[in-house]
Amino acid sequence: MKIAIDGPAGSGKSTIAKEVASRLGITYIDTGAMYRAITLKLLNENEKDFEKILKDTKIEFKEDFIFLDGKDVSSEIRKNEISNKTSEMSKNPLIREYLVEMQRHIAENIDVVMEGRDIGSVVLKDAEHKFFLTADVEVRARRRFNQLLEKNKDIEFETVLEDLKKRDYNDTHRKNSPLIQTDDAILIDSSNLNLEETVNKILEYIR
Ligand code: C5P
Repeated sequence: MKIAIDGPAGSGKSTIAKEVASRLGITYIDTGAMYRAITLKLLNENEKDFEKILKDTKIEFKEDFIFLDGKDVSSEIRKNEISNKTSEMSKNPLIREYLVEMQRHIAENIDVVMEGRDIGSVVLKDAEHKFFLTADVEVRARRRFNQLLEKNKDIEFETVLEDLKKRDYNDTHRKNSPLIQTDDAILIDSSNLNLEETVNKILEYIR
């Protein structure tokens, strides 16, 4: 069984997709983490030949951690500057092509909940269940702000809101695989739902 969950930044996709996968006893794949890891690599390299770098890149998931060329980068990729740079980098067709292929390969022979921006529209077009998870932009920014505040007390809500709006714009307006709700995806608005309610709603549809 393949389950695709797409939606904008801060919609709670990762937490929800992970919980849905855990309740169904199947694998969870966070494709945003893959775009983040590649971005980190490209920013740290002097080499400008993306194709060459991608060929030499290894991305692996081990439990809740993501490894880039053997190094755990799970925390590093969550930094705000990486979030913003990733939404720029992910416009690049070479990067998308490389990661889409890797994602399809991972999902090939297993049951998965895969979440991202283009899972229902590109990566797993034939997924049995597709969800488009969203929430009001202010609600999403507030959730993201509270998360970031745990690590950085100097962060401002307005900055988080503006960054989120910029990422929404980039992700929905890019030429390659923009974030869209496909016709066969079920819309879930979590503005007024908590985690448990959202997960249950998704599981009800699946069952
Ligand atoms: O989901 P997350 O916020 O971690 O994703 C970071 C960025 O990676 C997004 O803003 C988006 O630009 C990009 N992304 C993408 N396609 C995906 C997943 C993420 O373009 N399937």
